[in-house]
Amino acid sequence: MSRTKADPDISRRGFIKGAVVGAGATALSGLISTTQMAEAAAKRGKWDKTVDVVVVGYGGAGAAAAIAAHDAKAKVLILEKGDKGGGSTYFSGGFFVSPRDVDGAVTYLMDCARAADGQYFDIDRERLTAWAKEAVQNEPWMQSLGAEVFISLKGWYDVPGASSYTSCQVKSNPTGVGLWEALENAVKARKIDVSYNTSGSELVTREVRGKGVEVLGIVATMGKRKLAIRAKKGVILTCGGFDYDETMLKNYLSPYPKYSVGHLGNTGDAIKMAAKTGADLWHMNMAPSTMCHKLPGVPVAYPSLLQLSAAALDVIFVNKLGKRFTNEEMPYDAVAKDLDNFDAVERDFLNVPCWCIFDEKTRVKGPAGLPVPIGNPTYTWSPDNSLEIGKGWIVKADSIAELAGKIGVDPATLEKTVTTFNGYCAQENDPDFGRKMGLIPLDKAPYYALKGYTGIWATGGGPRINTKAQVLDTSGAVVRRLYVAGSASTFPVAHLYPLSGTAIGDCFAMGRIAGRNASAERS
Ligand SMILES: Cc1cc2nc3c(=O)[nH]c(=O)nc-3n(C[C@H](O)[C@H](O)[C@H](O)COP(=O)(O)OP(=O)(O)OC[C@H]3O[C@@H](n4cnc5c(N)ncnc54)[C@H](O)[C@@H]3O)c2cc1C
Repeated sequence: MSRTKADPDISRRGFIKGAVVGAGATALSGLISTTQMAEAAAKRGKWDKTVDVVVVGYGGAGAAAAIAAHDAKAKVLILEKGDKGGGSTYFSGGFFVSPRDVDGAVTYLMDCARAADGQYFDIDRERLTAWAKEAVQNEPWMQSLGAEVFISLKGWYDVPGASSYTSCQVKSNPTGVGLWEALENAVKARKIDVSYNTSGSELVTREVRGKGVEVLGIVATMGKRKLAIRAKKGVILTCGGFDYDETMLKNYLSPYPKYSVGHLGNTGDAIKMAAKTGADLWHMNMAPSTMCHKLPGVPVAYPSLLQLSAAALDVIFVNKLGKRFTNEEMPYDAVAKDLDNFDAVERDFLNVPCWCIFDEKTRVKGPAGLPVPIGNPTYTWSPDNSLEIGKGWIVKADSIAELAGKIGVDPATLEKTVTTFNGYCAQENDPDFGRKMGLIPLDKAPYYALKGYTGIWATGGGPRINTKAQVLDTSGAVVRRLYVAGSASTFPVAHLYPLSGTAIGDCFAMGRIAGRNASAERS
């Protein structure tokens, strides 16, 4: 990185004062504190680098923010902690929401945000309208980047507006790999500077009298080097969620453990950095989830194909008591909600872990776990599950009773559960949970059991933002020149995940909003 001249408009006094605000809490362990960094930089009279906009995290939101800021004539620098970009966006199924019309999308999203007694979770029509007005541009925007796209899904839940709330995919490669290729090509075509293996560590701030906290730049860690990077217009945090921060998972989501099926770089850095500026947090209890399988020695969990394909498979999910607890064919986030239930009588999360019970017919139909990244798997799973059976990760037995014994479930209960389910299959009617598809009896030995947990596609909580993607502090005031987008602060979702594609649709919409607004700041 090149060295730049001192910034005369930032006085040493103001700089150090601000740095104290920024570092009002603690230094990151093992690093020089921001105070020391800032003082050192101020004494030297120069920053290590100066740009207009620093984008922290190079996934879908980061790419969208950087492209928008660049197209609005800002000089942009992207910092990426890993040695390549993509994050969970690259891991993904490649769906992105691009609604057909604003009103329908807002009606649908409001329905998904309903709480008890006619109340709503922390979302409102005005915010959703602003969001949807931008999100309807997602499809043409991707086309403007050179990607041919097609509409592939409409709202999962049968409520007003569902047909307006649609998701798209890239034609050439519908997975996250194809999506990322289009985004990365657009960043490269614009010659936007990306600094890999560079972690945004701490924001440099100052207190502006009467106006609150203002972000001046960011301290980044590059190997053993610390760099003070000035952002003349603003910093945009697009570092993803807190999937891999155990303490945050324990505090904000329930039950524990939950496992991530996403990118290992997502350790809640945006939230930690923004919190030091006084940022308010929202939606911390929200994480679009699925059933996953967590296998020893593999850091990333596997989304459950047994669940995602349950409509076509003879598979049932049973809890620790050996009883079914959900309609297996429901959308993944709905099944995850059932997984998360706490049983107050038993004083236990009875459904975590659960057991997926299936027979030989399902065993040979394909892998039980979905290797990720979906479009280019790093972690493998044998096509007929034989490897996982051989390692004992999938438990095998000649009878249901024997299987129950092996997994520590009462044999009589599990036998009764399977017999009852098989009876429902014969009647083509599941009076317990209303399952309509996949009513195929479990009747071909051997039988199998595989543990299931709640798996996180992404966490959704983060710094509270306004419709301009500006971070708000706990009094509702804007933290000046600080923006957040993507899974670092998912915007349109309260509790129930409305449709595949919502998270990435949000990355694009809020990323562009953040990029445009940051670049419109006065330098
Ligand atoms: C297997 C899978 C399938 C999915 N499928 C879909 C789908 O089809 N549609 C959909 O809408 N959603 C899907 N999701 C969710 C979606 O992928 C994410 O919500 C979304 O991609 C998040 O994008 P992001 O830009 O916010 O974060 P990411 O894409 O995860 O990017 C964050 C980046 O920030 C970097 N970073 C973190 N901390 C720092 C730091 N301090 N400094 C610098 N860099 C940092 C990380 O290394 C990472 O590269 C899926 C998720 C998974 C895991």
